[in-house]
Amino acid sequence: MSDCLFCKIIKGEIPSDKVYEDDVVYAFKDIDPKAPNHFLIIPKKHYASILDVPKDIGILDHIHEVACKLSKEYGFDEGGFRLVNNCGDDGGQTVKHLHYHLLGGRSFSWPPG
Ligand code: 5GP
Ligand code: ZN
Repeated sequence: MSDCLFCKIIKGEIPSDKVYEDDVVYAFKDIDPKAPNHFLIIPKKHYASILDVPKDIGILDHIHEVACKLSKEYGFDEGGFRLVNNCGDDGGQTVKHLHYHLLGGRSFSWPPG
């Protein structure tokens, strides 16, 4: 999608602080962090939200694996972390390219506000 912010980040047209990359996933620091470690993990292929992900391609499993790997690499696996997907307007999704927030390095309460 040519007008998608995260597609532009993947292509390098907009700079980002990369923390992980492989053939199918890109992860980078959120520009407005809500935790000492706040990363966005996104598929390189454009899906507007989790509702658009085809069945059986394994991308969501893979994103979870990358989240666990990053939590260990950045040292917040033992303390725990939050992995969040906002879906659609009511879910608070502002960028319509599927992404998971990985937040670590502080504690969170439940339920969210
Ligand atoms: P959403 O609200 O859609 O779940 O999350 C979108 C996230 O993208 C927000 O946390 C916001 O701070 C982040 N974001 C928006 N624009 C940029 C940008 O240009 N660069 C980076 N690194 N993050 C961005
Ligand atoms: Zn996109």
